[in-house]
Amino acid sequence: MARIFCVANQKGGVGKTTTTVNLAAGLAKVGQRVLMVDLDPQGNATMGSGVDKRQLVLSVYDVLLESASIGEARVKSEKCGYDVLGANRELAGAEVELVDVERREKRLKQALALVADEYDFVLIDCPPSLSMLTLNGLCSAHGVIVPMQCEYFALEGLTDLVNTIKQVHANLNKDLAIIGLLRVMFDPRITLQQQVSEQLKAHFGDKVFNTVIPRNVRLAEAPSYGLPGVVFDPSAKGSQAFVEFAQEMVERIEKL
Ligand code: ATP
Ligand code: MG
Repeated sequence: MARIFCVANQKGGVGKTTTTVNLAAGLAKVGQRVLMVDLDPQGNATMGSGVDKRQLVLSVYDVLLESASIGEARVKSEKCGYDVLGANRELAGAEVELVDVERREKRLKQALALVADEYDFVLIDCPPSLSMLTLNGLCSAHGVIVPMQCEYFALEGLTDLVNTIKQVHANLNKDLAIIGLLRVMFDPRITLQQQVSEQLKAHFGDKVFNTVIPRNVRLAEAPSYGLPGVVFDPSAKGSQAFVEFAQEMVERIEKL
């Protein structure tokens, strides 16, 4: 049975999509069967996995509206080594269209249950909000991976997310837990980043992943080639860090 993880942080541009696609590629590289679900109408994780969001016949939108199954809507990214349930702008409408339906926050969970035994990991890339889409992700997942930059306001933003996760845990999904905080775009030369990193460890203890993802230009260049950095340039420092992170994830879930 697949372990299902949301990559979430309501703050924009913190590295959610980069984390999702590179962790997916890293897990595939170490032999795991992976489904990547793009829950963001921006469709960046879809494009960044080599799947053209403008040419999707079926997407996560159809799955949420129950007009298609995941089996029908997923596509295989040959280059990346994992399956993709893609998204595009159409998904922005789902929020409104789901307003009146019952169990609307459980749609993705129900759909994933039908394919769960085909994968070891399902990774869900969430949009930068705590919307109905993110809620569908959180209701489906066993855990949340929170990428964050070690900056001054980072801890403050975390409070909202932690509260939302607590509420979802209490009311909708008893399985949900924060698996860990992932320090991304890290630059050890910046003293403030080191300080925030230490604060994080003091406050969250072993919820902070050991792996640190450095700021690395190859990771930023890779999406324009429609690839995760791990596939685009496996020798780059950032790519190596994501493969290391994939191994850390595999070890962590064995202990769960
Ligand atoms: P959004 O909230 O809009 O969905 P996001 O949280 O998914 O954004 P990304 O799109 O992953 O964030 O990253 C934001 C920008 O930072 C992108 O241009 C990405 O290429 C760049 N970036 C992410 N991680 C790194 C890194 N480790 N080193 C250098 N650049 C990075
Ligand atoms: Mg994103």
